[in-house]
Amino acid sequence: MNILELRNTGKKFPEATDWAVKDFNLEVQEGEIVAFLGESGCGKTTLLRMIAGFANPTQGTILLNGEIIAGEGIFMEPQQRQVGIVFQDYALFPHKTVWENITFGLFRLTKDIASEKARNIISLSGLEGLERRYPHQLSGGQKQRVALARAMAPEPRIILFDEPFSNIDSLRKNQMRDDIRDIIRQTGSTAIFVTHDTKDVLAMADKVAVIKNGRSLQTGKPEDIYNFPANSYVADFFGKTNIIKARVTREGFETPMGLIKADNIPAKPEQEVVLSIRPEQFHIIPQDNECLCGSIVKERFLGEYKELTCKVETPEGIKTEIIIYASPHHVCNGQKCYFKPKDGRINILGPEKE
Ligand code: ATP
Repeated sequence: MNILELRNTGKKFPEATDWAVKDFNLEVQEGEIVAFLGESGCGKTTLLRMIAGFANPTQGTILLNGEIIAGEGIFMEPQQRQVGIVFQDYALFPHKTVWENITFGLFRLTKDIASEKARNIISLSGLEGLERRYPHQLSGGQKQRVALARAMAPEPRIILFDEPFSNIDSLRKNQMRDDIRDIIRQTGSTAIFVTHDTKDVLAMADKVAVIKNGRSLQTGKPEDIYNFPANSYVADFFGKTNIIKARVTREGFETPMGLIKADNIPAKPEQEVVLSIRPEQFHIIPQDNECLCGSIVKERFLGEYKELTCKVETPEGIKTEIIIYASPHHVCNGQKCYFKPKDGRINILGPEKE
């Protein structure tokens, strides 16, 4: 069952010329963690605000548990939606302790039940022992866990996070991503977070919507979007890739680097296409008559792998640079490099939607 549904949802601010969000469709199932991914100004926060009830859509509808909460003349107030929010700056009450912050939203419950719920969430969030501290006595990561515990304590139907890791230093980000994902999973909560960092998405999300100019360009599992991006914007946003123009032939793809052999191509011979091949989707092989060949012009050791920049030049003098990830132990024997895409790892990109 969909816990949340956005149907053609859009927002145009009165004084703006463009839509902040337009024709946005999304289905969120119970227990899912969903990410809104996009660059600054693409409409992520506006989407969160419409779901929370801080902004009213100018187009379409929003449904929570199958019930319209916004659109078609209906507008449910934020406090009635049972949506929890973790703000980017955590927005903790500075003069309240951790315990008081967490129990704040439980005022409707009896004291005993509220205390039990707070103790449970404090234990799950690893905050035991910090109950009497004030926000200024906590680290950034602890503040974030208090904000999460406060949002989760009333058991909302859905939790929204605005840029959850923007205030966490890069060393601790991985741990925080794991911790937050575990807390969400253990409580069976449904969550949506906004981010501009694909690492957050890959580490946490079950589903991601890649957004540009208020429109969703592609929605799906992070792994599928990584491997099969719909267009060059999504491909680029979701990590490094090689964008290669090609012409389909009966044997494969004719590219400026030479023929890339492929079977079962979902395009007709002679069709002009654009390919996306990720750096790790190439492998370096001994020279054979099907491989592509280039000269290594740059080599970067990046710990877990080596990034090779390979310049390929056609007999007509057309130069292309290809990025290949090789094993960190790869020895660049001389400057020549022979390579080809791994089977089934060539993706044809569609046109870019504006
Ligand atoms: P960031 O990552 O920088 O927070 P975002 O993806 O969350 O950006 P939004 O804050 O949703 O983007 O903004 C989307 C667009 O709507 C932007 O062009 C922004 O300038 C515009 N916008 C946001 N709020 C308002 C407002 N109250 N009035 C007019 N325009 C607005």
